[in-house]
Amino acid sequence: MSEKAEKIILTGDRPSGKLHIGHYVGSLRQRVELQDSGEFKKIYIMIADTQALTDNFANPDKVRASVTEVALDYLSVGLDPNKCTIFIQSQVPELTELTMYYMNLVSIARVERNPTVKAEIAQKNFGEGVPCGFVCYPVSQTSDITAFKATTVPTGEDQKPMLEQAREIVRKFNEIYGPTLVEPDILLASNKACLRLPGTDGHAKMSKSLGNCIYLSDDADTIREKIMSMYTDPTHVKVSDPGHIEGNTVFTYLDAFSRPEHFERYNIGFANLDEMKEQYKKGGLGDVKVKRFLNDIIQEELQPIRERREEYAKDIPALYDMLKKGCETAREAASQTLAEVKHAMKIDYFG
Ligand code: ATP
Ligand code: MG
Repeated sequence: MSEKAEKIILTGDRPSGKLHIGHYVGSLRQRVELQDSGEFKKIYIMIADTQALTDNFANPDKVRASVTEVALDYLSVGLDPNKCTIFIQSQVPELTELTMYYMNLVSIARVERNPTVKAEIAQKNFGEGVPCGFVCYPVSQTSDITAFKATTVPTGEDQKPMLEQAREIVRKFNEIYGPTLVEPDILLASNKACLRLPGTDGHAKMSKSLGNCIYLSDDADTIREKIMSMYTDPTHVKVSDPGHIEGNTVFTYLDAFSRPEHFERYNIGFANLDEMKEQYKKGGLGDVKVKRFLNDIIQEELQPIRERREEYAKDIPALYDMLKKGCETAREAASQTLAEVKHAMKIDYFG
């Protein structure tokens, strides 16, 4: 078998809102490159509505509307339904069935130890207690990955513990029931600033649920306003003051977005980002100038995405046709794996 015949991608996003530039640099941008690389036999992109419902169960309208938004975001960044299968998690019931079987292979203590789940529980203020479905969503994520025999899962850094948990479940399954499932690898963005892009408020992670995002669909004025009021270095009061780069969100965004050609194109007076950072550290470079430069770069990147999005939004029935086809293709693949799982577990009573 060739390399290509073996490599399969599964990745996705929760429809808990529109996608933002954290998703873009942490995952979407790389997904499009992987899609166009021709290195993968199959690419599955999942809109994780079942997972979004674990903490948005009382908000079905929001989840439903966000499915449309996320699908539009996908097409607008360049994901191509002819090259990848875009589908909706809840429409592939085989995934839910797999979750039930995998649930036996994980202890309650283990799911509760997952650091990302822990941090999210602390952040979400679940009034009436944490839903079982929420604590167990990493198990359901294991179903999503293994159902498609994914070898490669491109995600942001917050998903590392999910992948570890998936690998543990796969190993345990294969040990008990015989070799059936494929152990997946995480694929992180190579640029460190993109692993977990901070929010515009300086919070460690830009997140739909925290409202500190620049959305791919934001208009030019909104983007400018958000950038101009971004968190920088609180000790950098006067332009002449020495400034800090570490923890300075504006510079983290420049790390994630700027390319060598931007320095010439926008005539910023520095040959590259290192020179600009040096000047900021010494003093004599104001936040407004840095923010204006960042704004130019982000506007340049987001404008074509926003324009494509507006075009796709004109034909929502076509968008749903594409999703329906994706769901059918995904079901075929997942039901094959489910049959193999049931056979391995000796619950294939009727052949
Ligand atoms: P929610 O707050 O509802 O969990 P989210 O903004 O965290 O939403 P997800 O749908 O959970 O978004 O994440 C989808 C993908 O985007 C994952 O691979 C995740 O690692 C990545 N991602 C999310 N936020 C960021 C970020 N700020 N920087 C880099 N990658 C991110
Ligand atoms: Mg998340």
